[in-house]
Amino acid sequence: MIPLVKTNIADRNQLMPVLEQVIYSGYVAAGEASRKFEEELREYIGNPYVLALNSGTAALHIALLILDVGPGDEIISTPMTAEPTNTTIAVTGAKVVWADVDPETGLASPASIREKITNKTKAIMLVHYAGMVCDMDEINKISEEFNIPVIEDAAHAFGSKYNGKIVGSNSRFTCYSFQAIKQLTTIDGGAIAFTNPDDMAEAKKLRWFGLDRGVSRLENDIKRAGYKYEMNNVNATIGSVQLKNYPDILKRYIDNGMYFDRELAGVKGVTLIPYYKNTEPSYWLYTMKVERRNDFIKMMEENGIMASPLHHRTDTHSVFAESKCDLPGMEEFYSSFVHIPCGWWVDDETRAQIVKAIRKGW
Ligand SMILES: *Cc1c(COP(=O)(O)O)cnc(C)c1O
Repeated sequence: MIPLVKTNIADRNQLMPVLEQVIYSGYVAAGEASRKFEEELREYIGNPYVLALNSGTAALHIALLILDVGPGDEIISTPMTAEPTNTTIAVTGAKVVWADVDPETGLASPASIREKITNKTKAIMLVHYAGMVCDMDEINKISEEFNIPVIEDAAHAFGSKYNGKIVGSNSRFTCYSFQAIKQLTTIDGGAIAFTNPDDMAEAKKLRWFGLDRGVSRLENDIKRAGYKYEMNNVNATIGSVQLKNYPDILKRYIDNGMYFDRELAGVKGVTLIPYYKNTEPSYWLYTMKVERRNDFIKMMEENGIMASPLHHRTDTHSVFAESKCDLPGMEEFYSSFVHIPCGWWVDDETRAQIVKAIRKGW
């Protein structure tokens, strides 16, 4: 079965010598290798204000902590995502307020975001689901008009573009995940990008108990308690190797995604997803809408190809009961969207086979 997601790890000959070196170096905690990886991330993203962390969840939490989000606050978010986006809001004590999604794309609808703003709204949490970028032109306008900061959960979108630039320089916070099945993995890991250097300075302390790395341990004075969110040297070393290979790997996802955009256009029973102005997806998962989804999935399975919606909408969990509301756009998108394999393991022959199966019908 051709899978929907597959972990990519650099070749043994490339990875093992450097990994062995760091593991037995005596310096496995956050240090030189972490700082080196951080510099490489800054260069890749094109933003000097990036910190490496030990997970994408840590990145989301740090953004919320910097905004002092807590009980009594509201965060506008989307149910069309993986759980950590919204469980992380829940752990701060703030209320998740669901914005509806655009039924054509599954991404947060700017019109709905606008409607859900109250005087308690502390931030707008966006998710570039499956690597597709939200309608940033419109959402930037809303953020400016109401003076509400945006957190971009770019866990699926490391390498997606907005205005021709890799996402990570637009909103006050952009959060990445390098978890096992994401497009770039460090086994576990994450990063956060800022547009405000003061936020980065605060985040540096929050990721290490509240201690200031620039001051000796004995002279340190913790003013605000932080967490243990740094990325260690071992994951960072893996990250440096992975990042070297990443442009070629990402290129394969994008190449396959654009192939499906071309080859599946106009196919009976398939509705392709339009991408917003000035955005370019990373195609972590190829997403489209199909008629009679169960039959489609069964047909694909019979052809040895995995197809699935993959994520369960998060607004149905008991922990979000208080946030429950009608989301007609979500109902519509959720009933027909599906993912098909698109990543680095899909070669020319495989993608042609996928298109052929879909064109035959179900
Ligand atoms: C994976 C993921 C996260 C969390 O990342 P971790 O590195 O696993 O903590 C957050 N948001 C989304 C949408 C994700 O898919």
